[in-house]
Amino acid sequence: DFDVALDIHSYSELESVSESFNRMIGFIQEQDNARQEFASNVSHELKTPLTSMKVLSDSLLSQEGMPEELYREFLGDITSEIERMTNIINDLLSMAKLEKNSADMTIVNISINELLDGVLKRLRPIAAKRNIELVYESYRPVVADVDEVKMSIALNNLIENAIKYNYDGGWVHVTLNADHKFFYVRIQDSGVGIPEELQDKIFERFYRVDKARSRETGGTGLGLALTRRAILLHRGSIKVYSKEKEGTTFTIRIPLNYVTAEN
Ligand code: ADP
Repeated sequence: DFDVALDIHSYSELESVSESFNRMIGFIQEQDNARQEFASNVSHELKTPLTSMKVLSDSLLSQEGMPEELYREFLGDITSEIERMTNIINDLLSMAKLEKNSADMTIVNISINELLDGVLKRLRPIAAKRNIELVYESYRPVVADVDEVKMSIALNNLIENAIKYNYDGGWVHVTLNADHKFFYVRIQDSGVGIPEELQDKIFERFYRVDKARSRETGGTGLGLALTRRAILLHRGSIKVYSKEKEGTTFTIRIPLNYVTAEN
C-alpha cells in the first residue's frame, strides 16, 4: 500500500513523498514486466503447436503418393496439436475468469465429502489405466462455504497431477479433515517428486519441471497457477512437501465460512 501525503510542509515530507512515488513506480514496473513475460510465454506456447501443424500440413500437401499409413499418422499428429492448443486456451480462459476479483465467487454451503467423491469418481478411470491405487479417506463429514466450480478445479488439478506425475502401479492418498475453523485436504502421492529448489516455481504460470513429460500427459503448466488462485480466492492456503523419486504431498487449508473482504 502506498500512502502519499498531499500536503507537503517540509523538505523531509517532500523526501518521503518522493520515496513513496519511487516505490509505487517500482511496483508498477514489476507488474508490467510480469505481464510482458506472461504475454511472451502465451505467444510461445501457442506458436509451438502452430509451427508443428504447419510443418505437418506442408509435408502432407507436398508429397504425392504418400502411403496411407503415414498420411494418417500426420493427421493424427495434427489432431494432437489441436488438442494441445485447445487445452491451453481453455486454461487461459479459466485463468482470466479467476483473475477477476472475488466478486465473481458463487458461494454455496455444501458437503466437501460429496464434492471430493465427485472429483475422484471422474479421475478413477485415469488412475486405473496406469494401475495407480487411489485411496480416499475422510475423517468426518465436512460442510463448508465454497465456490463449487472453482474448488472442484483446484482439487481436480491436484489429484490429477498426483496421478500424472506418478509411477505405474503407484498410489495416491487423499484425506479430508476439519476443525472448528478450517477444512484440510491432503493429497499424497508416491510419484516422481519435485526438486526442493523448484517447489516455489511450480505455482508460476507455464512452469513445468519436465517439459517433455508434462507435454506427453497433456499438461499446460497452468494447472497449479489456477489451483493456487482458486484457493486464494477462498482465503485458503496451499503447501507442498516433496522428495525427488519418493513422492509429493500437497495440503490445502480452507476456512469453513467464507467471509467477503472488509465487512
Ligand atoms: P502441468 O499442466 O504441466 O501439469 P501444473 O501447473 O499442474 O502444470 O504443474 C506444474 C509442474 O509441477 C508440472 O509440470 C510438474 O513438473 C510439477 N508437478 C505438479 N504436481 C506434481 C506432483 N504431484 N508430483 C510431481 N511433480 C508435480
